[in-house]
Amino acid sequence: MSERKIPAKDFLHLIQCKLCNGVLVNSTTIIECLHTFCKSCLVKHLQKADSCPMCGNVVHQSEALRYQYISHDRTFQDVVDALLPEIKKNELERERQFYLEHPELPNPRMGENGAAFFPAVSGSQPAVLPVRKITASDCHRNDVQISVQLECKSSALKPLKRRYLLCSIFTEIHHLKKFLAAQLFNNTSRWQELDIMCNDVSMLGRNHTLQYIKLVFWNFRELPLVLTYRRRSEAV
Ligand SMILES: [Zn+2]
Ligand SMILES: [Zn+2]
Repeated sequence: MSERKIPAKDFLHLIQCKLCNGVLVNSTTIIECLHTFCKSCLVKHLQKADSCPMCGNVVHQSEALRYQYISHDRTFQDVVDALLPEIKKNELERERQFYLEHPELPNPRMGENGAAFFPAVSGSQPAVLPVRKITASDCHRNDVQISVQLECKSSALKPLKRRYLLCSIFTEIHHLKKFLAAQLFNNTSRWQELDIMCNDVSMLGRNHTLQYIKLVFWNFRELPLVLTYRRRSEAV
């Protein structure tokens, strides 16, 4: 198989942090507008400002909510690291050095308490950002949550007894279909018989997240996010 080499300068702008102009480190995305920055750049920015540095979208309206609306973008960072593995190696080495020189600071790679720690900018306090702690029992409860209303749009299916759900914003359409299949058929493996729609749009892909659907199809309207379901065979 032939490989085509693409010069880094052709894609660098796609993986560049607009705050430091460097390659993204610990990519972190503002959930509302999906603009991505280095974690430490964005945290520093949000200590002084309340809006996205690229589009001006208000991220938080109070100090307490400052970090509720940003999220580590692991997929994006994996792409960056795969494109430029040397940078990843250097970054890990710099991080290792930093914690060696600051033994008084807890190292998040060894931490237990679910809080990530960021190197302090000289003279300022280090920032602590709550991040998702991954444990077997977590079930995404530490993610940002979104309220969802599931309505039946089918004469062949029953409405749900409990129509309101609180889900992680990372919940995908096929997760909801499995939940519905369990409720309606008592059998999660029949999830492919179902269609889920938002605003009568049935083109929701199985891997679309609730975060994406809220942004693209729900247009920032009030929550809950209303989704309807029907049998796939009823599609017109
Ligand atoms: Zn940056
Ligand atoms: Zn933005």
